[in-house]
Amino acid sequence: MKENCCENTEPKKSLNFIEQIVENDLKEGLNGGRIQTRFPPEPNGYLHIGHAKAICMDFGIAEKYNGVCNLRFDDTNPVKEDVEYVDSIQEDIQWLGFHWHKLFYASDYFQQLHDLAIRFIKEGKAYVDEQSAEVIAQQKGTPTQAGIESPYRNRPIEENLELFEQMSKGLIPDGKMVLRAKIDMGHSNMHFRDPIMYRIITTHPHHRTGTQWKVYPMYDFAHGQSDYFEGVTHSICTLEFEVHRPLYDWYLDQFAGADYRPKQREFNRLNLNYTVMSKRKMLQLVQEGLVAGWDDPRMPTICGLRRRGYTPESIRSFIDKIGYTKVEGTIDVSLLEHSIREDLKPKAARVCAILDPIKLIITNYEEGKKEILVSENNPENEELGTREMIFGRELYIERADFMENAPKDFFRLSPMGREVRLKSAYIVQATGCKKDEYGNIVEVYCTYDVNTKSGTEGGNRKVKSTINWVEVDSAVNAEVRLYDRLFSVEDPSSSEEDFRTLLNPDSLKVLNDCKVEAWLKDAKPLAHFQFLKVGYFTVDQDSTPNHLVFNRTVSLKDTWAKKV
Ligand code: ATP
Ligand code: MG
Repeated sequence: MKENCCENTEPKKSLNFIEQIVENDLKEGLNGGRIQTRFPPEPNGYLHIGHAKAICMDFGIAEKYNGVCNLRFDDTNPVKEDVEYVDSIQEDIQWLGFHWHKLFYASDYFQQLHDLAIRFIKEGKAYVDEQSAEVIAQQKGTPTQAGIESPYRNRPIEENLELFEQMSKGLIPDGKMVLRAKIDMGHSNMHFRDPIMYRIITTHPHHRTGTQWKVYPMYDFAHGQSDYFEGVTHSICTLEFEVHRPLYDWYLDQFAGADYRPKQREFNRLNLNYTVMSKRKMLQLVQEGLVAGWDDPRMPTICGLRRRGYTPESIRSFIDKIGYTKVEGTIDVSLLEHSIREDLKPKAARVCAILDPIKLIITNYEEGKKEILVSENNPENEELGTREMIFGRELYIERADFMENAPKDFFRLSPMGREVRLKSAYIVQATGCKKDEYGNIVEVYCTYDVNTKSGTEGGNRKVKSTINWVEVDSAVNAEVRLYDRLFSVEDPSSSEEDFRTLLNPDSLKVLNDCKVEAWLKDAKPLAHFQFLKVGYFTVDQDSTPNHLVFNRTVSLKDTWAKKV
């Protein structure tokens, strides 16, 4: 691309602060100008939109600075981890459009980490503590008050080696002993107060190493070390790890060579309103059947958003908009909804779908006659071309598009002589309706003007409103699932009440008797459409050839903005 060219009006995007750090490091020739990042999910749940923010950062930095980003499963706690999560995480990252250089697991380093722990013991930097977790926690002290040293802190090195070996062989029951780093119980950073390095877990086999290991490293003892073993240059994570950074560096100082060090850097995590993103809470929703699974379209998970009809592009542009800072905050979910509207606007074909159908009979239209009309798929994107719509004497229209005794400002169908255009078809005028024994309208009657066909000269005649329709004989039945926000309050986690009582009772409405154009008959899951005047929809995986199911991705307009 030409530089300094006046015609290049694309605004130059300013660097985020992590990019600035990376650029400075490159300028200084740190690590020989090599850039390597990693995305380190714990396989104990499905990825959510917050993870997408970390993914865009980790993979984005590598892409931008000709580096590599590896995927590393942080699988150091077999109690909660599972291959189901390992598989879904890989699928979701790829769907978002990112590709890792290499795939690693923290468990690849179990032997190296264990060896390192023994080295720490031998150097007098670690000891086996026999106190319970509760007592250890009580002895931590407070930020202003020093902690209490464990009575086991100064046991001889030989004894520590012997006990750690017993722990490692499964001879000690879970919870009876831990290996702790011997640092400083009076340190101003609480993480330095003899942090636990290893704990015993024999109750759950590991998803990769089975029952080979009886002791497992803690996050702090595993993460920086894994970064170092792999050659990571920038270990980017969220702000809650900032207070862990000195310990990350301290551990490295104990064994790493001086020529190369990974750097931990932190950014603000994504918090979104009207949802929960803690894995524990999401798991609860799934296990208690409060949602239909991890991929329920109301969930903030990547697979839930995908099933809801979100595109990778919309998620990435959302992440791009919110940016990266050092300040925690909460993002309004309407910004995410805006991103998908913006993305689908030019991409989705705009079709007629009748959600609450009522029959419209054109009394002056020949019985049995069918016409093929042509409609543009998206007036904002000619590339999407046109499609054929079958027209006939009997159509379905939205019940709300007809009113028997309409007020003056009702411009749709009513038997008051008002003209209305049927989308891409003719102008009609309502003449009356039929009611059942309870007074409910069951059919609407109208006449059409043969000279007003869209695409002909008469088609240019303007009337106040256009309504959607689907021809009765060719219409395809569809189930439409209208999804809305999962919670009815902005921050379900901050409330005194149990978050499960704050679910939005209207987060899903199922309409079973909808009619859509025949053109949609073969639509495949995840295809996107705009239902004219209603919103954006995608085909759900529950669809069968005889039963189409559509999920509402988002309404055309933000309906929540009015409510607050
Ligand atoms: P848990 O809920 O168990 O603490 P987690 O949400 O931190 O887990 P991990 O699998 O440990 O999930 O996260 C992998 C990476 O994603 C980490 O680097 C973490 O910082 C980042 N991450 C997690 N949640 C968010 C979020 N809401 N916004 C941005 N990044 C996130
Ligand atoms: Mg975590």
